[in-house]
Amino acid sequence: MRVLRYRRTERSTWAEIGLLAVVIAGENEGGQILSQDRFVTLPAGGAEAHHELMLTTDQLTRADETADEMFSFAGADRERPPSVRALSITLLHTEPQSKLIVNEGEICPVNGVWQITTRQGIAAPRVTVVYGHELSHWWRRRNGGEDTETEEFHDAVGARLAAPAIPFRRALRHYGHSVHALAKAFHTTQSVAMLRIAELEGRPGLVNGSKGRIVRGADFDWPEDLRTVPRSRGHLVRVDNHWGMMAHRATQSGWRR
Ligand SMILES: [Zn+2]
Repeated sequence: MRVLRYRRTERSTWAEIGLLAVVIAGENEGGQILSQDRFVTLPAGGAEAHHELMLTTDQLTRADETADEMFSFAGADRERPPSVRALSITLLHTEPQSKLIVNEGEICPVNGVWQITTRQGIAAPRVTVVYGHELSHWWRRRNGGEDTETEEFHDAVGARLAAPAIPFRRALRHYGHSVHALAKAFHTTQSVAMLRIAELEGRPGLVNGSKGRIVRGADFDWPEDLRTVPRSRGHLVRVDNHWGMMAHRATQSGWRR
């Protein structure tokens, strides 16, 4: 068994520790590890714990356009778009596979054929977003193109493919801003549901994910400690294994519900 050097920091999350356990289990069982690096390096702690994973308005617009282009290219009906899995089969002509790998997802051309691989054991709601994220990489890299977008950008495209605008708006009329019900309806994560509410309704929303804070929607003065936000201005929401917050407008007629 090879030795994996693991630098545990204050910010090591259970997901990361769990991933390491998967890697070690794979080593013990002779499973194939597709990492190029023998070492699992985790993010350092400190100030970046509150680093906001900001995307500019330009990037978000480009993420919208990318999702639109991919649906069009696949000949999808925008009113009733296919699932991300179906979309990926249409676009890549291969079925996604699940394997013991280090990353959550990968997309590689094998003999000119692109195929998505997701890590065995990742939560089912997460799979749709990973498919979308990997498809977004493919969209940039197909035809030998260069992928200069950030991982956060590809996450945003993944969210748009997992929770496309038209059906999501329709669902918002039915479920309101119920993060958990929307996530279930779209077979996706609660984080994606929350961020899509913020993006499509303009309501300020924040997800405090393992890599940092993701904020969307209208500007809001998010404090370091979310618990200091008065109940009249916002409420904490449990999203997946993290905390998030949805803001209320100061006025009675705003987002308060
Ligand atoms: Zn990626």
